[in-house]
Formats: sequence, structure tokens, C-alpha cells
Amino acid sequence: MIFKRQQSHKLKVAIFFTIIIVSVFLASDSNALKISNLYSPLNKKRPYRSKTQYIILHTTEGALNGSLRKVRRFGEAHYFVTPTGRVYRIINRRKIATHAGRSMWKGQTTLDNVSIGIEVVGFHDKDITRAQYIALRELLRQLKRIYHIKDKNVLTHSMVAYGRPNIFHTKKHRGRKKCGMIFAHPEVRRRLGLSAGPTKDPDVAAHRLAIADHELHRFLYKPPKVLAALKRPADQFASCPMVITKGNNAWSIARDKYNNASTIYLYPDGRRLRGNEIREWNNIPVGTRVSFMDEEREQEFEGFLEIGKDGKSVRELAGDLYDDATTIYFFPDGLIRTGAKMKKSASLRKLLNNPPNGTRLLVGYIYGGYVQKRRPISRIAGRRWNYPSTFYRLPNGRLLSGDEVEKKSIPVGTLVFIMK
Ligand SMILES: [Zn+2]
Repeated sequence: MIFKRQQSHKLKVAIFFTIIIVSVFLASDSNALKISNLYSPLNKKRPYRSKTQYIILHTTEGALNGSLRKVRRFGEAHYFVTPTGRVYRIINRRKIATHAGRSMWKGQTTLDNVSIGIEVVGFHDKDITRAQYIALRELLRQLKRIYHIKDKNVLTHSMVAYGRPNIFHTKKHRGRKKCGMIFAHPEVRRRLGLSAGPTKDPDVAAHRLAIADHELHRFLYKPPKVLAALKRPADQFASCPMVITKGNNAWSIARDKYNNASTIYLYPDGRRLRGNEIREWNNIPVGTRVSFMDEEREQEFEGFLEIGKDGKSVRELAGDLYDDATTIYFFPDGLIRTGAKMKKSASLRKLLNNPPNGTRLLVGYIYGGYVQKRRPISRIAGRRWNYPSTFYRLPNGRLLSGDEVEKKSIPVGTLVFIMK
């Protein structure tokens, strides 16, 4: 009798635990996901996003440890997926991570404000691991559900990044980055539970941007049928040509980092020059080796456009909005006016039609006016006060972005500009 009772007790315990295990398994989406917190030190400072329209996929273009260190240090992603399928939270998914840099999609810029960024350890032209497929698929499934994001809005960094005009490309252009390129391939997307991505570049179609890398453009929108082309061994990429040749110029190697101080050019004669020290870009000798100094922050917000640098005329920079209230002009002599205001005055209209080189513009911005004692920043910018896309012009003329200011230290008399 006692024996029997013990038996049934054991059975009850076994059933009880089975139920618990099964219900935990069913309740938890994250079962397939080995996810843990490895927050960036910047996580606390980052503001919350007000909306989430896109998920942007990146490839680290480097090995696990170095990439993880850099992404954490600068808060450059919300999630980080290792080759073994481990996922780390780097920035709280509700906050802004700085992963997309200078970016545009359907005319909307600074996509950090409206997107979640996922860094996958790997290379733009190499297939990811089986474990990464499993983890990323589950991560995407959950995020798509939480934010109601359609498959066509799961994009790659290479799709949204764009470059300002430079010596190699005279127009604003697509092709600044190849980052995350493989996530445009239909076979990769299928394995990630995604339907086909966008079939064309909306900003190229609308002539907002030119194509600066036709090969990349073809891959993103008319990809090769077979994925096998991507399944090349990793060591091929380690020997990716970092040498200047006839068909491989500084831009194709370093893209928009070509003239940065952190890009090093080792000439065949032994001279070592930094990108910012080179003037004759078409005369770099064949055989020059290019290398990058580590841990450079990917940090180029849309921000200011400059006459002479980004284009020649206000129409080129702001289009039909050049005389709008949402286009703000910063003249070299310190004058700041909106396009709408300048249109109304005869003398200022002249300046508007012929701005001097060095005039800077913010397009699609709200002129927030001055910070006053009775008009604190919280009243002017609301929750956007510390957005990286919010700008401050201090009374001493200095310009700061929202992630550089502390709320208490914004002085009275500071002008505020908030992205629309
Ligand atoms: Zn990227």
C-alpha cells in the first residue's frame, strides 16, 4: 500500500514537471533563441524611438571579437548575432542605435530614428552559418510581429546607405556600402522566413540618388539565381584586394572613408599617407596598399548639407523645398533663416537664389526657436530633445547634436532645430 502510494506520488510529480516543461516550451518564443544582455555603455544615454518602420540587416565585415567590441563601444546595433547563433542585446530595442549612418529610403533620411539594426558576424558576400540562419530567423520573426513590420521592410544596410557627392561621384549616390548585401538574396531571405525584398531602389527611381555601384545594384534588385556563387571559402575574402590597381581606385576600396584620417595609404616607394593628406586622387600609384585603422566610428548622419560640397545650388540640395519653412539656412556670416522667411524679403531673396559657398542647409527640419527661461527645451523638442538628429546652435555659435548635450546644460538663447 505504502509502496503504491509512493508510486502514484512519483507519477504525479512526473506529470507536474512534464506539464511545466511543455508549457514553458510553448510559451517561450525565445526557445530557439539563445539571447542575452550585453548592453553598450551608451545604452543608458540613448533616447527612445517614436516609431519603428524598418529592420536593417548588417554584416560586421570582421571577426567576432573585434566587431563585438566596436559595436558595443559605439552602440551601433540593437542585436548582434555570433557565428554560433548566440544573440546579444547591445541597445534596448525601444531606443535608438546608430547603425545606418547616412541613409535614405523612400526619401526619408536618418533611418536610425525609425529602425532596428541587427549586426550579423560575417561578410557581405559570404553565406552565414546554419546557426545564424536559425537564430536570425527567430529574432526576425519576433521583431516583425512586435512592430508589425512587413517582409519588404526588412532591408539591408547596403540598400539604404547613400553617399554625398565626392571626387569620384559628383552626385548623391547609392553604393556607399555593401554591408549586409547577402540578405537581399531571395534564397537567403527564404531561409530567414522572409519573402522577396524590394524589387527596385525607390530613391534611384525618383532620381534622388544616382547609382555609384552597378554591380551592387544588380545584386540587390536582380540577384543571381543560385546562391552557390556566395558560398566561397572565407579566406578568399581575407585577401580581398586592398591594393590600388587600374580598375580598383581609392573609392572602390575605402568607399566614403577614402579621404579619412583613419585610412592609410602605403605607397610603393614607402611613403605612408593618411586619407586626409592626399590631394591628387587620380594619381595614386598602382600598387599602393590601403588599410584602415581599427574601431573607427560609423558616424555620418544626414545632418547638414553644404553649398559647394553637397551641390552647387539650393534647388540641387533642397529641391522644391528650397523656399519652404522646413528648409533652414546657415550662412557663413552667422545669419540663420528659413527658406519661407527669405522668400518674403527682397534682399534676402537674392541671397537665397545665390548663396555663397559654405552656406549650410537643414532640409525637412522644424525651426524650434530659442531656448528661454520660460520655454525650456522639453517644451520645444519634447522627447526628441536628445535625438542625434536634433541640432542645437549655442549662443557662442557652436553646433551640437542631441546626443552631445545634457538637458541641464542647454543655455538660454540656444536655437533648436528638430527633424520633421
Ligand atoms: Zn552596416
